[in-house]
This record gives sequence, C-alpha cells and structure tokens, in this order.
Amino acid sequence: MTTQKSTIAKGKLKKGKISERQNVFGTCASMFVKLYHSACSVFFPSNIKCLICGDDLKEKQDIEICDACKFKLQFLSDTTTCARCGAPITGQGQYCLNCQNGDCEFDIARSVFVYEGEIRHLIAGLKYNNKPYLSRTLSQYIAEKYKELGWEADLIVPVPLSSARKKWRGYNQAELLAEGVSDVIGVPINTETLIKIKDTDAQATLNLSERRKNLRESFKVMDKYAVKGKRILLIDDVMTTGSTASACTHELKKAHASRVMVLSIAHAKTEIPTETTKNSAEILAN
Ligand SMILES: [Zn+2]
Ligand SMILES: [Zn+2]
Repeated sequence: MTTQKSTIAKGKLKKGKISERQNVFGTCASMFVKLYHSACSVFFPSNIKCLICGDDLKEKQDIEICDACKFKLQFLSDTTTCARCGAPITGQGQYCLNCQNGDCEFDIARSVFVYEGEIRHLIAGLKYNNKPYLSRTLSQYIAEKYKELGWEADLIVPVPLSSARKKWRGYNQAELLAEGVSDVIGVPINTETLIKIKDTDAQATLNLSERRKNLRESFKVMDKYAVKGKRILLIDDVMTTGSTASACTHELKKAHASRVMVLSIAHAKTEIPTETTKNSAEILAN
C-alpha cells in the first residue's frame, strides 16, 4: 500500500514536474511570440495608414501614401537636373559644377525626390526616429525609378554604415532600402562586400579635399570577385554632394566593377549653378 501510494505520489510528482516544464516552455514560447510580434510591429507595422497624414488607406498598397499626399510630393523629374549626378540645377548648362570638376566618380546617379518637405520628414523618421518600416514605401519609389530609367544592373550594393553606427541605429537604412528594391526588380543584393571601416561623422571640421580623402579611406571591398565585371546599382538614402557615392564607387571600380549607377530617395536641393564654358564631351571624359 505504502509502495502503491509512494508510486502514485511519485507519479503525481513526475506528472507535476512535466506540467511545470510544459508551463515554463509554454510561457517562454508565448513570450517569444509576443517579442517577435512586437519586433515585427516596430519593423513592419500592419495597420494601413498614410505615412504622411495618418489617414486610413482604403486598401493595402505597396506605397502607403494617400493620393492627396502623393500629389504634394516634389519629384525631381519635374525639375532641371544635372545629366550625370541628378542634382537639381539652375542655369543653362547640362552639368553641375561638381560633375564639371570631375568630382563625381560614379557613371550616373539619379534620385526620386527633392530632399524637402514630407520626404525629408520620412527620411528623418527612417534614419533618426527608429522607423525602419518606412523603407518599405520608399524602396518602392526607388524601384519604380530604376524601371523608368531602363537601367540594367547585375548586383545591388547598399552604401554601408560603420559597425558602430549600425549598432547605434540597429539597422542600416540603405540596406533596408536596397532589400526592398531587390525584392521588386529581382536583382541580387550583396551587403557583405562593400564595408565601411572608419566612422566619418566628424567631417564638418575638414575642408573638401580632406573630406574626400577621409571618405575614400573609410570604405573597403572585402571580396573583389563579387563585384568584378559587374554593373553595380549602389543604393543610398540621400545624395548631397555625391562624395559618399563617389568614395564607394572608387573602391568598387578598384575591384573592377564595370559600371556604378547610383539611386537614392532624394537629392538635396543645393541649387548648384552650371557652367557652360566646358563642353559635354569634356565633362563625360572626366
Ligand atoms: Zn496622406
Ligand atoms: Zn552633377
């Protein structure tokens, strides 16, 4: 009897232990699911609202911006731009002064928007306010631009961040954009080959040539065979002087990339004047 009781007690105990373990496992699993969902909701929230005005969108769409807000966006295609770097320009010439001076090393660059107004706010949200999900809509615009331009790329490479900066932000916004573009246009992406080995945040104190030198020394191609002979589509968030894209191009071309084309969401409206004294052939030869 005692043995029986003891067996029952033992059995109960054993059963109790199993259920305790199951409970612990269940709690962990549900915590994991909750964490996963909250992480997903930060990265890609499921509610469908206009990213600019917050109004409900009628249905799920690739570009989460309502028609009224889309209408107000400043597309660069409505502006006169430099034939090479895509900067908004004023004056009669085809090329901005940067391109005429031979400062842009990439073959061609284009951006979708002028870096102003609501687009500027969206990019700030993506870069500084922990809203990585904004890349979903912004990358759609970049992919549309790629198709409209009729470019042909073999490989997509995002402008890299230093590991310290990526750790601070939690993600590389250019990488998220590049992934979105890759999904739409079906060109493979490589996020490992071009890396940033030096932080260049303290550039403000440097003059232009020091800044360029500092930037050039901050990027490195890890596997030259990954880019050799390839037409690269370099993706960035914003273009200002084009010096970052040029520094990346310098390294990619050193590794024998055959062509580097740059696409970004927006180009800063620096109103770079043009100079008509140089002819186009001379500029393109730079
Ligand atoms: Zn709206
Ligand atoms: Zn230019």
